[in-house]
Amino acid sequence: MAAFDLSTWTRLPWEFWALLFFIFGSMVGSFLNVCIYRLPRDLSVVHPPSHCPHCSYQIPFYLNIPILTWLMLGGKCANCGARISPQYLIVETLTGLMFLGTWARFGDLDNLGSSLLVTLVFCILMAGLLVATWVDFEHYIIPDSITLGGIVAGFFLSFAVPQVHFTDGRIEALKDSLIGIVFGWGLLYAVLRLGKMAFGQKRIRLPEGTRLHFSETGITQSGSDEPETPYQDLFFRESDKLRMKARTVELPDRCFFETEVVLQPTLLKIGNEEMDPSTVPSMEVVTEEVIQPQEAMGFGDVKFMGAIGAFLGWKGVLFCITVSSVLGSIVGILLILIRRREWSSRIPFGPYIAAAAVLFLFGGRAWAENWFRTGQLLP
Ligand SMILES: [Zn+2]
Repeated sequence: MAAFDLSTWTRLPWEFWALLFFIFGSMVGSFLNVCIYRLPRDLSVVHPPSHCPHCSYQIPFYLNIPILTWLMLGGKCANCGARISPQYLIVETLTGLMFLGTWARFGDLDNLGSSLLVTLVFCILMAGLLVATWVDFEHYIIPDSITLGGIVAGFFLSFAVPQVHFTDGRIEALKDSLIGIVFGWGLLYAVLRLGKMAFGQKRIRLPEGTRLHFSETGITQSGSDEPETPYQDLFFRESDKLRMKARTVELPDRCFFETEVVLQPTLLKIGNEEMDPSTVPSMEVVTEEVIQPQEAMGFGDVKFMGAIGAFLGWKGVLFCITVSSVLGSIVGILLILIRRREWSSRIPFGPYIAAAAVLFLFGGRAWAENWFRTGQLLP
């Protein structure tokens, strides 16, 4: 059968594959939209099928064409006319372009079979990077299904398509992937610990006898004209916390004296007692100092770097850590210069890691290979 003969397919022009990857990418993008919304909310990505959030109308599958459906309906629900976010169009188009770009980078008509497989593996990586970036921007987390799932997927795909690691040997590719996972996880974990030591914690000194009032929505200082500081400006991640050495702590039903208070989004610790902060309607704390541990990144970034190592090996990890730190510093300084943010406010680190991984695929890898081989920074 001609259809099963690879030489039939190699006669198709490069543009045919480019278009195919774009269409395939936009379809995957449709699914990524679902992941971006549902993964951080712990909802199933397969059930229920995508529907209008206002009227629950479900576009029949034969009308649900990526990009085109959104454009034809003018960004509105076909049934109730509610606005559908342009994010859907953007993610579908972006994924299509990324898949097309991956084919442009790794596709090779003279070596069609293996280059198609390599392109597919890197498309999977790209899809993961996109979801991680989007979710990290919105929620300051990277879901485990992306990070831990990426580690497992990267490891097995390295075995299935060893060419991803520049080799035909499956064992060699597995080794590179495994070292990449350990190296990525370990190195970023070290950076995380060192960062904690370097940035330490922010200490906010208060006049003696200051009384802080913790409401259900935020913190106010009694006797001060400052507006309430909402919790969402203080807590970004589950692990973020405030620590206070309290003279007194008053809850509606009891008091504590000379004890330590630790407040996290889902945990309130007073001395050795732990409780759920959502069950405490209000709290008054008399203290001289509030300590806010500073975290440049979270544990999600550590797992994320492990996943990148699984796909790109240890050289990829080294490249991504270096480049993401540089990118992060440049953007951070630029934002401060144009006064868009304070030193203390934070941007998630995951998107920089993702950007570095993309740069590695599109040129960084060749540059790194040359650097490791010749020791020269410039080719
Ligand atoms: Zn609707």
